[in-house]
Amino acid sequence: MSTDISTGLPQIWLPYTQMKTAPTPLVATRTEGTTIVLEDGRELVDGIASWWTACHGYNHPHIRARIGAQLERMPHVMLGGLVHEPVRDLSRRLAALLPGDLDHCFYTDSGSVAVEVAMKMAIQYWINRGVTGRKKLLSFRDGYHGDTLATMSICDPEEGMHSLFAGAFPEQVLADLPRDEALVDALDTLLAERNHEIAAIIVEPLVQGAGGMIFHTPDVLARLRVLADKHDVLLILDEIFTGFGRTGTMFACEQAGIVPDIITLSKALTGGTMALAATVARRHVFEAFLSDSPVAALMHGPTFMANPLACTAACASLEIFERESRLDQVAAISSQLCEELEPCRALPGVRDVRVLGAIGVVELDSIDDMNRLKAALVAHDVWVRPFRRIIYLTPAFTITPDALTKLTAAIQSVIREGAFRRAA
Ligand SMILES: *Cc1c(COP(=O)(O)O)cnc(C)c1O
Repeated sequence: MSTDISTGLPQIWLPYTQMKTAPTPLVATRTEGTTIVLEDGRELVDGIASWWTACHGYNHPHIRARIGAQLERMPHVMLGGLVHEPVRDLSRRLAALLPGDLDHCFYTDSGSVAVEVAMKMAIQYWINRGVTGRKKLLSFRDGYHGDTLATMSICDPEEGMHSLFAGAFPEQVLADLPRDEALVDALDTLLAERNHEIAAIIVEPLVQGAGGMIFHTPDVLARLRVLADKHDVLLILDEIFTGFGRTGTMFACEQAGIVPDIITLSKALTGGTMALAATVARRHVFEAFLSDSPVAALMHGPTFMANPLACTAACASLEIFERESRLDQVAAISSQLCEELEPCRALPGVRDVRVLGAIGVVELDSIDDMNRLKAALVAHDVWVRPFRRIIYLTPAFTITPDALTKLTAAIQSVIREGAFRRAA
């Protein structure tokens, strides 16, 4: 990597990047629909919607217009002691859209912090009810819930770098997802032994995203709901990745017909335009905080909580979901991904091909040269970011069939070329 400051580096410390060896990053100057335009004029078809956020494609005119109008009126005002129409509108909409009595919305600026708030809510729920000792979260292998210290403690131990940071955060309870009867029994036993220490179970429903796009069936979630009830622990669903249509329903939990006690939302909440997250609680959770005692209140409050521009963007995004047939588009993307990724299964080095909703995954035996693979994808004029040993697509729901074919064809080509192996 160049240390020449004219490239804009090393002043910009990039995410998840070894700055010594990283190739110079590409410079994006403009976006439109599912296209990212680079400084040198190249146009890339975007296959991952900027970390799964831009569900309506980039620069959707309705979101742009609504944010513009709100910017004229009031870009921001603190939520302490004041509310505003965008946050009222969004809260009403989320409560109506979410299943059951998930009606009480607490806003933050990022997914990780939304999960931290859910953790605090769950722990204090028991404290407020006079139950002591329930301070731990039960989470699952291959899970991902964020990058902050508290959320690292509930990520997969290897990916969450538990050993590197040992001692820097509390130890939680780790389990395997109850995918079969033996694992259901194991979790049942674990909860019987340790539920007095556990405030809540937390899981990403249907898809463990950043842990490797690993799917599970809706009945796994139904079992978790049963076990949580049986052992009297709360159930938190982290729908930060799956929320807003990605798995084929507005929320993944709908496919299992369950209602969690707390749900976390972010990523596609504002259609990929502004930083916003929500932690939404059911009535019984909210009511545990209603008290004459000030210490029973939820003590959390980000400076930019429920920023009016971000809430407006989220409302505009939900309006688009009402007007345009996004879930039909997800179904169409799903069949096209199935058809067009399936041929990869026969290629050397491919371990698995899987599709769920608008998520397509090609899992390789290993990716030996990540930088070479990334460069090969860009050479095909697509923006796709493989990680671990997977190449995946999570496009905008508005992507055209032709653009999607360009993405799947590029993936087939780079695998055929062996671009994931170290150059000879
Ligand atoms: C991305 C993600 C987070 C963290 O969100 P940030 O906004 O990056 O902090 C948490 N949980 C899940 C399931 C995610 O996909």
